Amino acid sequence: MVFMGIDIGSTTSKGVLMNEEQAILAQHLVHAGIGTSGPAAVKKELLAAAGLQDEDIDYTVVTGYGRRTYAEADSQVSELSCHAKGSAFLFPDVRMVIDIGGQDAKVIRLDSHGRMTDFVMNDKCAAGTGRFLEVMAGILQMDVSELEQEAAKATQTLRISSTCTVFAESEVISQLAAGAEIPALVKGICGSVASRTAGLVRRMGVEEKVCMSGGVANNGAVRRAMEEELGTEILYSPLAQFAGALGAALYAMEKAGKEKEHE
Ligand code: ADP
Repeated sequence: MVFMGIDIGSTTSKGVLMNEEQAILAQHLVHAGIGTSGPAAVKKELLAAAGLQDEDIDYTVVTGYGRRTYAEADSQVSELSCHAKGSAFLFPDVRMVIDIGGQDAKVIRLDSHGRMTDFVMNDKCAAGTGRFLEVMAGILQMDVSELEQEAAKATQTLRISSTCTVFAESEVISQLAAGAEIPALVKGICGSVASRTAGLVRRMGVEEKVCMSGGVANNGAVRRAMEEELGTEILYSPLAQFAGALGAALYAMEKAGKEKEHE
């Protein structure tokens, strides 16, 4: 049997195909989120990569900010539950997930079964989200994926004092005009995202096993700054951005099983 999880985010669409042994058959990401043809493109690529047809998919769960816009799914599950499930699949002992996406950040607490027990989120302010990194990368004429390498060259950190993205933008431009070292500035920018979200984590109380999910987790400079902020190791998988889609595929498997029981 084949199960599909689709995660429609604010900036990207992600998908995972899984079999009943919980093996990942294919995963795919498209840089187009809610309100675009991103989800359809993801599905097409997943099927091609696994050599399957539409009718081979037994059950689909959709999650993410744009989940209500995808009529093809058999059911919808919240992104909080999916990130919790997907992260617990990647790290069975994990008790806290820090999910930083394109326009929000969430901190999710899990029980020993990988189920969400509590959460806090920031969906009001771009600081502490991927949007902040995108705005800053734009000023520096870089791609967000280049920030980590640039920060690695830094011999010092230029801290960003503004907590608002718009003010931080002016601050970075003034620093550049004053001849600031770019790597030090980039390290400060990554640190600023970590520091904002660490504030959310502290509101909940840091757990022992913490992982990051969402696209921003791919930035090692943010992860390391988060480790310093929280004084704990941050678990990371290259599948971090797929955690929601992975959770959705796992829910698809569970739901398909339950529907069969009721038949
Ligand atoms: P959403 O689900 O809201 O669309 P994602 O979890 O897919 O968000 O994450 C998208 C965000 O991740 C974007 O803001 C993007 O800039 C950021 N991102 C993706 N890859 C990287 C990377 N290598 N370094 C830093 N940020 C990244």
